[in-house]
Order: sequence, then C-alpha cells, then structure tokens
Amino acid sequence: MKIPKEVKRYCPHCKKHTLQRVTQHKTGALRSTTTKGGRRHERRGGIHGYGGFPRPKIENSSRHRIKTSKRPDIRFECKECKKKNVYKNSVRAKKFEIVSIGGKE
Ligand SMILES: [Zn+2]
Repeated sequence: MKIPKEVKRYCPHCKKHTLQRVTQHKTGALRSTTTKGGRRHERRGGIHGYGGFPRPKIENSSRHRIKTSKRPDIRFECKECKKKNVYKNSVRAKKFEIVSIGGKE
C-alpha cells in the first residue's frame, strides 16, 4: 500500500479541505519488563527460544498462524491550523510506505 506525502482532504478544525502532510506514527518500545509477566518472560529466555508461548512462533504452523499484515497508523497534519488528525482506516496492509509525488522532496 502506497500513500502520497501530501493529500488534500477535509480538516475538521478548519471545516474545509486543506493540504495535509501524511506521517506514520511510530510505535514505542517493544515490551516493558517491569510487569510480573514481563519479568518471567525475560527470565525464561526472552524472545528467543520460548517455544511459541505466549506468542506463537514466527514459523507458520497451520494451527498457530500469526498475522502477516497490520493496520498502518496514519496521521494527517493540517498545513493551515497545524493540527494532527488521526486517520481511522480499516485497511490492513502487509507493506506500507509514504511516497512523494513527482520525485521531489
Ligand atoms: Zn486545519
């Protein structure tokens, strides 16, 4: 899935269509080890060699298949009011990238 860098769409703050910059929200740190379950998970070898529990292994077994696609968290920043709007899309994509139109930065 590809999305242009700048799109013209409706801004609920300006109440009109404005040019908005597309940004992808990055998720934070993987897993905190401060909880009891997290400490136990760390003690039993962390992510490596945990035998497919509590999360299924990366290898695709027919019974415990993990998801290969995810919903990209896209945010739109309005150029006029500088407010960020969250785009709730229901599209699942394996690959997601922001492309610039015309090849200019
Ligand atoms: Zn706006």
